[in-house]
Amino acid sequence: MSASVSLIKKYNVPGPRYTSYPTAVQFDLIEPAALGNYLEKRNSSPRDISLYLHLPFCASLCWYCGCTTVITKKKGHADIYLDYLEKEMKYYASLLHPDHSVKQIHYGGGTPTFLTPKQLRRLGKMLHTHFNIDLKAEFGVELDPRTFTQEHLEALMAYGMNRASIGFQDVNEEVQKAIHRIQPMEMVQDCMNKLREAGIASVNLDVIYGLPMQTRERFAKTLEAVKILDPDRIAIYSYAHVPWIKPAQKLLEDKELPTADEKMQLFIDAINYMQENGFDHIGMDHFAKPNDELNVALRDGSLQRNFQGYSTMSGLDLYALGMSSISSVGGYYFQNEKELDDWSAAIDQRGNAWIKGVRLNREDKIRRAVIMQLMCSRNLNFRELWDTWHINAKEHFRDELERLKPLEDDNILTLTSDGIKIHAKGRFFLRNIAMVFDQYMPKDKAKPVFSKTV
Ligand code: SF4
Repeated sequence: MSASVSLIKKYNVPGPRYTSYPTAVQFDLIEPAALGNYLEKRNSSPRDISLYLHLPFCASLCWYCGCTTVITKKKGHADIYLDYLEKEMKYYASLLHPDHSVKQIHYGGGTPTFLTPKQLRRLGKMLHTHFNIDLKAEFGVELDPRTFTQEHLEALMAYGMNRASIGFQDVNEEVQKAIHRIQPMEMVQDCMNKLREAGIASVNLDVIYGLPMQTRERFAKTLEAVKILDPDRIAIYSYAHVPWIKPAQKLLEDKELPTADEKMQLFIDAINYMQENGFDHIGMDHFAKPNDELNVALRDGSLQRNFQGYSTMSGLDLYALGMSSISSVGGYYFQNEKELDDWSAAIDQRGNAWIKGVRLNREDKIRRAVIMQLMCSRNLNFRELWDTWHINAKEHFRDELERLKPLEDDNILTLTSDGIKIHAKGRFFLRNIAMVFDQYMPKDKAKPVFSKTV
């Protein structure tokens, strides 16, 4: 899987993560009535669906954070939030076909475990009251070891949680102080032990490289700690320094942020760790053990990209609830109001809080299919594009195929007579490959919109 430092440097340019196509940058104001009609029609027959719930509260701000959060210590805020979530659930439940089936649930944040065990039980009960949840549904929750207790675990499992993702980031105290997130190893180990004892099927660990005070020596300690924790999956994220979007990140600028070269080296160290410890590269920053379901999904073609990164079970309609969350249903992406007050006011007024989004045209759909195929299966078959979209891919993507030739020269991929084959080292450059097919890439390169690919 090795990719040389020079190659990584060459392709380290700003680019989207393609959790959607078109990306959220293209979202515009939408007409709720038209979207409502579309959803009503789409649900005239039963569908399998996925639910995402955004739980935005955090007790304190981590200074690297790129998420949409509400910082508070008052647990009562979550009670009011749950009141509104229930109204939103009722709205969607009335839109869905009575025989819909929920196959996948994800709690993201913010910090889902900011909620008390009692509030989590209330949330679980609400879901089961308003939706038809399949008994075998995949139910994942993002966990913060600082706010996770046995009671939280029991409250989550009582309503079906069977997957977990732990926010780990870095084990070193100096780094943790610099990012304003103190989380001793014993705390993370305790969280992992509880999940293992409870028989949670798949546990992911989030690690971040490029944080202030990180050095190769310190990062090696983090990788050693990862080995001890022994997760099923690892997401190794590059710290995305985007202070023009997240002003709090400016606080990190007077700390010792690694240089671009040092950051690259941390990335290489992480890749070597994965290689030596039996993790397969799923794509971009995701790695999984051979038996993990993400790896199984990659092999059987059901891997997908959604707003949480890589996931199993492609083809589900995704309904996202809570402030700022983004849904993906058929040919539509639509996002809720981003601010708490705007979101709750909209729910009061009309039951939904849709504000922005995009309705895909035929060309968007073709390009979305191509980009998602490249991100999730590492190959593109022209024959399949003909069968599905009736396009001659060689003609349709003449310019794009030409622009891929330098990547072929760098042995990242091979252009064959019937498609594109991405090599093992090409899995680090999926964003660069996908960007070639993105019709909306900003022409003004001087204006940063996306973080760098590494
Ligand atoms: S806990 Fe997570 S969501 Fe909350 S501030 Fe920290 S990184 Fe952001």
